Amino acid sequence: MLEVLLLLLPVAAASGWYTARRGMTPKKQKQPQEISPVYFKGLNYLLNEQPDKAIDLFIELLDVDSDTVETHLALGNLFRRRGEVDRAIRIHQNLIARPSLSREQRAQALLELGQDYMRAGLFDRAENLFLELTELRLYNEQAYIYLLEIYQQEKDWQRCLEVADKITVSHYPSLHNSIAHFYCELAEQMLSQQNSAAAESYLRRAQQIQRGNVRALMLQGRIDYTRGDYRSVIRLLRQVEENDPAYMPDILPRLVDCYRKLGQQQALFEYMQQLYQRHHSTEAMLILSEMIADAEGESAAVQAVLRHLGENPDLKGLERLVRLNLQRGEESPRETLEVLLQSVMKLLDNHPAYQCEHCGFIAKKLHWHCPSCKTWGGIKPLQEFVRNVRG
Ligand SMILES: [Zn+2]
Repeated sequence: MLEVLLLLLPVAAASGWYTARRGMTPKKQKQPQEISPVYFKGLNYLLNEQPDKAIDLFIELLDVDSDTVETHLALGNLFRRRGEVDRAIRIHQNLIARPSLSREQRAQALLELGQDYMRAGLFDRAENLFLELTELRLYNEQAYIYLLEIYQQEKDWQRCLEVADKITVSHYPSLHNSIAHFYCELAEQMLSQQNSAAAESYLRRAQQIQRGNVRALMLQGRIDYTRGDYRSVIRLLRQVEENDPAYMPDILPRLVDCYRKLGQQQALFEYMQQLYQRHHSTEAMLILSEMIADAEGESAAVQAVLRHLGENPDLKGLERLVRLNLQRGEESPRETLEVLLQSVMKLLDNHPAYQCEHCGFIAKKLHWHCPSCKTWGGIKPLQEFVRNVRG
């Protein structure tokens, strides 16, 4: 509340103070005005700890003229940031209604009001204001950025692409990533309509704008899988690993499936070993341990998992260890292991499996667009959750 009052008090008391502060610029100086009785009423509210009423009074008191426009803008901005959107809207609407504003000042107020509307969830109104700004050719880029935000909210991916086209990519380094995801969204829409030709053409555009976009690779893999082109799926999913190994837990099951469908057990084993050497991931160890169990028996698999767990304590690895022991378990304390297995499975089930590396949002399933910070491709599978929780 203090910052609001700091802004309001002097201006409301006498705009002469404000003019004097800007006295460096040779403008006609206003005569200090008489202090309005409303001002004392406002002070009274303040002293009686009714700051809300005081603020409303002071806002009424503020004359809009070329000297106080900036104060109005700062005040409105402050209210919006504090979540008092109604007040912000009132201030900015009041500003825009003044015919005395310069073109630049009006544009500035429009930009602010648009943000108020967005904050209030009034996207239609916000959209109209930002479109008006782009016609005025003032604050163009900012207006397009906000329009992009609105169209993403509305999942209107075609319009997202149109707007993104107007934004200078060098000013917004994450734009390429967003555009690639817009194409992926469109590709997913086409896939849900069984139109894989259109989907593939969108995926190609996604790859053109951002080479190695993992989502586009995964989607293309999905299409090729339904076609039975397992070689292509393997090639695509291995590219996912090269570009962002964090997604391995999500793609491994399909990758393994394709190797098996092609009868390439040995190639799979070699790839898993390479993968394990590169990332020491539990997921790769789980598959390896399965293959070791088939080829050399459960004891050898247990040894491999034990070695892994020694260096990378992890719930999934622990679960595998218990399972392997149960399969082996002639004499092992079976009941104890059963209980252990149940509790590990329960823990795994309760775990959020994904987290946004940008804002920390945790989720049970993979979202490409973070619901919290709106980053594209920031949410990734959590591989070492146990350590994260401890850390
Ligand atoms: Zn996030």
